Amino acid sequence: MCGFVGMVAKDGVAASLLLALQTIQHRGQDAAGAGTFDDRRVHLIKGLGMIPQAVPPATLPTLMGNAGIAHVRYPTAGAHSTAEDAQPFRTRQPGILLAHNGNVTNVGELTAWLRAEGYVVLSQCDAEPILLTFAWALNRHRAAGHTAEDVRAAVVEVQQRVRGAYSVVAVLEVDGQATLVAFRDPHGIRPGVYGQAEDGAWMAASESVALDVMAIEKTDDLPRDAVLLLREGQPELRLPLQPARPARPCVFERVYFARPDSVMEDGRVNRSRWRMGRQLALEWQERGFQADLVVAVPDTSRPAAQAMAEELGIPSREGFIKNRYSGRTFIMPDQRSREAALRLKLNPIREMFEGKRVLLVDDSIVRGTTMRRIVQMLRGLHPTELHIAIFSPAVRHPCFYGIDMPSADELVAAEFDEANQQDALARWIGADSLTFLSVAGLKEVAGDRICAACFDGDYIVPVSDTEKEGIRAERRGA
Ligand code: SF4
Repeated sequence: MCGFVGMVAKDGVAASLLLALQTIQHRGQDAAGAGTFDDRRVHLIKGLGMIPQAVPPATLPTLMGNAGIAHVRYPTAGAHSTAEDAQPFRTRQPGILLAHNGNVTNVGELTAWLRAEGYVVLSQCDAEPILLTFAWALNRHRAAGHTAEDVRAAVVEVQQRVRGAYSVVAVLEVDGQATLVAFRDPHGIRPGVYGQAEDGAWMAASESVALDVMAIEKTDDLPRDAVLLLREGQPELRLPLQPARPARPCVFERVYFARPDSVMEDGRVNRSRWRMGRQLALEWQERGFQADLVVAVPDTSRPAAQAMAEELGIPSREGFIKNRYSGRTFIMPDQRSREAALRLKLNPIREMFEGKRVLLVDDSIVRGTTMRRIVQMLRGLHPTELHIAIFSPAVRHPCFYGIDMPSADELVAAEFDEANQQDALARWIGADSLTFLSVAGLKEVAGDRICAACFDGDYIVPVSDTEKEGIRAERRGA
């Protein structure tokens, strides 16, 4: 999982890019980078760590130019990230800066083909093969002086050669003007939005909160069947690619990753979580349990917990003090640091648990170790009953489209028979009960036009066994 921001404006964009990038720091804490396009020269700074470490504020004056992109990178488990793997990437001929969010599933095949074509692939990051394929396709038309039609034809080539999930932003000169180019995979699996400021500047980003901070109103999601060409002070140019394929935006964005104040696809993320909570309350009630109060595991699950409390007619209370200076446990790179981060992160408020029947609400269970440790910690406060409700279905299948859950043997729910996974998992975790939102319930709320492959195993972009093994090896750092 990663996040990007791209901008083209009348004046320098570096400060705006980095401000906007900070709104999506939650999408990646492994590395960051920013690049600008300045009269055909490219300025690029990237490195490991959070945004201020990777792109120190003192370097801002060197990022000259009125167009650019910035990126935060999510760590791939086991893989050894280097500064070379940070995005954006650049080419000199033609001059292009590019970043993406997603996962290219045929990266091995693509890299072999690019090397056969004489390109040098230096990094482990799949943005580089996307960039080189784009550059290869542009160079087939002409070496320089590219037109909008050249870009359209090149993106058609990219979509034919690159498989998987990707939302891409690039900056290059098109028709003699600095142009922000944005496109995504034909199913729109990974998110992306864009909008124009009152002064004519354009911005594209992984989440609308990046636009919000610049007072730019979202125009739309990035199209699945067109490439966008955005130039300062001009209307958008939307060039058709191929007939639209079924939309399959990642529903896990709405469950866990995206900020609640972001707007993506069918509405505000906060509202989606609220509706998932209300649906889960109906399913939880059907199981015949009762509770005195609802407690959210902060922060993602608050809207769902409040909706459950409202639907069940019981109070919702804050049960934890969260150390806001610790990172999100899901994106820590190894088990030891995930466990230490949890102890650092959540301190329970004793009176909310002692002698009470508590319904604890969380967003998802992937490895299960975080929830198990929370329950162990809470048992020490002697609640009379401790029920768990998860406002997404059980994660039983790996994601090959950009979220780090590579193999089924890391997914705790997949270890149990589907028919009794709730009871078996409740025992393993140490809770009195555990209830997942059903897949049918999720689709009742989010609709059928979603990717829910990690829940139901329905992969819209087929992934061959060779590709799966390649992705696993990459994540093991092999
Ligand atoms: S498999 Fe799951 S996490 Fe991956 S894109 Fe689909 S819904 Fe999102």
